[in-house]
Amino acid sequence: MEALKQKIREEGIVLSDQVLKVDAFLNHQIDPRLMQQVGHEFAERFHGQGVTKIVTIEASGIAPAVMAGLELGVPVIFARKFQSLTLKNDLLISKVFSFTKQTESTIAISAKHLTAADHVLVIDDFLANGHAAKALIDLIQQAGASVAGLGIVIEKSFQEGRGLLESEGYRIEALARVASLADGQVTFLD
Ligand code: 5GP
Repeated sequence: MEALKQKIREEGIVLSDQVLKVDAFLNHQIDPRLMQQVGHEFAERFHGQGVTKIVTIEASGIAPAVMAGLELGVPVIFARKFQSLTLKNDLLISKVFSFTKQTESTIAISAKHLTAADHVLVIDDFLANGHAAKALIDLIQQAGASVAGLGIVIEKSFQEGRGLLESEGYRIEALARVASLADGQVTFLD
C-alpha cells in the first residue's frame, strides 16, 4: 500500500535494526485518514471470505481494526491486556510475550463475544515474531471459531512471524513489508 509506505518513509523512526517507531501516525498519534485507507485495503483483501468478526489486541491494533470493521460491516473485539473490573466471567485467556516490552503478559476476551459460528479476521499493527498473532489465534480457537486470516499493517519480513504462521496454514495480508531496518534505513520488500 503505497500511501502507508510513503508515511513510513517520511515519519517512521528506525530505533534499531529490529524496531521501527511509528508513533506519529499509528502507535500514539493516529492519522485517521490513513487508517481509513488501511481499513479499506483490508476490507478489499478479505471481501467475500465470510468474515463475521475482527479480533485485535489493545491498544495499537484498535484503530486499523475498527476501520476494517466499518468497511466489512462486522464487530471488532480487542483482547485486553489487563484484568478489568468489568471483565470477570467466562474469559478466554492466553499468554503473549511482548516484542517491544520483552515481558510476558496475559490477554483476555470475554467468551460471550465469540462463538463457534464465527469466522475471524485477526488484525494487528505489527508482525514481528508472531507471538501476538499466535495468542489471538489461541483465543479464537478456544471459542471454537475459525480464522479467516491475518491483516497486518506493518510486517517486518526479516523476523520469523510470517514463516511461522504460514507454516500453520494461515493467510497473511501485510500492507507494508519491511525487508530491513539496517543502517537506520527502512527498505521494503516490494
Ligand atoms: P510479535 O508478537 O509478532 O513478535 O510482535 C508484534 C507485536 O509487537 C505488535 O503487537 C506490536 O505492538 C509490537 N511490535 C513488534 N515489532 C514492533 C516494532 O518494530 N515497532 C513497534 N512500534 N511495535 C512493534
